[in-house]
Amino acid sequence: MKGERQPPPKGGDAGPRVVIIGSGISGILMGIKLLARGWRDFVILEKAETLGGTWRDNRYPGAACDVAAHLYVYSFAPNPAWRSRYAKGPDIWNYYRRVARRYGVLPYIQYGKEVEAAEFDGAGWRVTTRDGGVYQADIVVAATGRLHHPMLPDIPGAESFAGPKFHTAQWDETVPLKDRRLGLIGTGSTATQIVAALADEVGQLKLFQRTAQWVFPVADTPVPLWKRLAFRLSPRYARNYYYTLRSQTEARGKAATGDRTARAARDQQCFDALARVRDPVLRAKLTPDYEVGCKRLVMSGTFYDAVQKPSVDVVVEGVERIEPRGVVTRDGQLHELDVLVFATGFDAHAYLRPIKVTGERGVTLDEVWREVPLTYRAIAAPQMPNFFFINGPYSPGGSASVVGIVEAQADYLMQLIERIAERKVQLVPRQEAAVAWLEEVRERARQSVWGSGGCQSWYLDKTGTPSLDPSTLSELQAQLAAPDWDHFVERPALVELACAAA
Ligand code: NAP
Repeated sequence: MKGERQPPPKGGDAGPRVVIIGSGISGILMGIKLLARGWRDFVILEKAETLGGTWRDNRYPGAACDVAAHLYVYSFAPNPAWRSRYAKGPDIWNYYRRVARRYGVLPYIQYGKEVEAAEFDGAGWRVTTRDGGVYQADIVVAATGRLHHPMLPDIPGAESFAGPKFHTAQWDETVPLKDRRLGLIGTGSTATQIVAALADEVGQLKLFQRTAQWVFPVADTPVPLWKRLAFRLSPRYARNYYYTLRSQTEARGKAATGDRTARAARDQQCFDALARVRDPVLRAKLTPDYEVGCKRLVMSGTFYDAVQKPSVDVVVEGVERIEPRGVVTRDGQLHELDVLVFATGFDAHAYLRPIKVTGERGVTLDEVWREVPLTYRAIAAPQMPNFFFINGPYSPGGSASVVGIVEAQADYLMQLIERIAERKVQLVPRQEAAVAWLEEVRERARQSVWGSGGCQSWYLDKTGTPSLDPSTLSELQAQLAAPDWDHFVERPALVELACAAA
């Protein structure tokens, strides 16, 4: 893309030196916010060769976002061009690339820069990349995403499979699937989208399901031309539509943290959708034994139709081992396959790793996070001055578009950065403030359906506590409206913040 690899413009108010790690939705957003403030002394380090995170990496057949497209945008950059209620993965990726270009962020992204370490030396941060790059920064913002590291199951014999095999986030587009026998291990949001996309294409699809999922029915309707025109011609109409979608999503999301009455209407829609599966044996296989919403809800209007097609077989006997010809289940049956796909999710608790972050007095983030990832408001960690996260551990989820959440966090972060620049200081959250905040969030999370609904999910940390803040977006915005400066230690930076042009 034109301009994608041009050097950033020079001159003007450079501002503090900021290193942003990752060029996904959060990293691009931070770039936009810094530029809007007139600060240009920043770099976005991206380990891949192209911009993006989730929507660059997840290119499996059927990849789409089950959050309404008009909500899955930055609030300040609506996209009147969406053609249907839910957007496809590549279209989302293009949207964020377009916005990054429009707001002038692209020249600030450096590609092929995998960050290995960030070390605080008292004056600032020294960020090093795998290729030997060294970046001095006053502030580091980790925008590395939560669902980034593919989780490959530890199934005996997995290496021995004779055909192509890969994780959904590393989809091999060169492998032909037409009329072939595909095995899919896992039944999360990803697998259900793949089943719906491939049921008619492959010869046979074996869906190896360990745990059934609740499915909330949604319909992907086209956006009529008049509406697309209205979005284009009337920013007010577009804005109202965005906020209507936001409140609807929030109302539904509240069910995760609300009582049973609040959840009843949503749950009933899941029960009704499941009841429409005709074959009672298949319906029984697809019936979960835990509460609706305990795992992240699958949102789909196509999965139950797809799974009833003759080409699809839901296998619930449990995977025992993998051998060259296919998957052997616990009943001793060999399921012969041509292609094997792991739809087994991500290690959501490997946040930032394997980057080695070393803060005050040589303490590492791994040490600070030995028990649980201790953060203050999911934004900062004790002993890590001027080191911040966007969409970090304990960010809210489940009740809002993640884009709204990271916007609220970025606006809060800009207030911190403003203070750091103005007063020439370093900010670090007080240990007791972080502990108190985290205890309160974890207690609410434990009481939510994620913690009490009787299931296993990627939400749960090693202690069995959901690592998500159950706050809604409105609540989060209120919590993050203004920093509580008493919760931070503020001390003069040892050296003047760099103000010279880059
Ligand atoms: P996931 O929800 O974590 O699901 C992983 C699946 O793999 C589960 O069914 C799990 O079974 C199964 N599994 C894991 N290890 C296994 C093993 N050893 N043997 C058999 N089965 C195994 O992963 P995901 O579907 O990739 O989704 C992850 C998250 O990404 C979602 O929750 C969502 O937040 C996000 N996502 C969003 C969208 C969207 O449209 N917005 C689309 C896709 C993904 P168990 O349930 O028994 O553990």
